[in-house]
Amino acid sequence: MTHTVSQSTPREPVVAPRPAPVLDAAVLVLNQNYEPLNVCSVRRALTLVFGGKASSVELSDGRVRSVCNVFPVPSVVRLERYIRAPRRRVVLSKRNVLKRDGYQCQYCGAVGHKMTIDHVVPKKLDGPESWENLVTACVTCNARKGDRPPEQAGLQLMRKPRRPNNVTFIRNFVGAADHRWKPYLFLD
Ligand SMILES: [Zn+2]
Repeated sequence: MTHTVSQSTPREPVVAPRPAPVLDAAVLVLNQNYEPLNVCSVRRALTLVFGGKASSVELSDGRVRSVCNVFPVPSVVRLERYIRAPRRRVVLSKRNVLKRDGYQCQYCGAVGHKMTIDHVVPKKLDGPESWENLVTACVTCNARKGDRPPEQAGLQLMRKPRRPNNVTFIRNFVGAADHRWKPYLFLD
């Protein structure tokens, strides 16, 4: 459902009479073309909306009060203008490869926290340390694979490993804070 906080919404500062955790809740920010960009606080999202830089596309159940008004709290906002976002930098580390893959063995699909990191093209065959060559593997698949490429071990990758983009970053590193984000993160 699309809601647009129109220009008729009074542009007045949002004043919280006491600390309001609702203002710190997470809001998904979409680019003008609906591509997920990042996550910000409700406080920041409302600044964007009242400044005419973004509009609410999904509202949460929360409300914030100013002196004489009550405003709906956005869950997802969309920028009015397309911005060219810099590529997200996620440090390549064992932990981040596990997060990218959702702690799921990329060969058999098992999920758990006792996972290992596998070099798809083995180190012995000069397989690099890169987002494209490191995947999460369970102990069984890793042992079965040994120092061989997957096809020689009769294993097949579930998906091609890639550097995290904005969608995978938000999905796996931040997490969908709200079910309303799911369609935009392709989680439905
Ligand atoms: Zn496995």
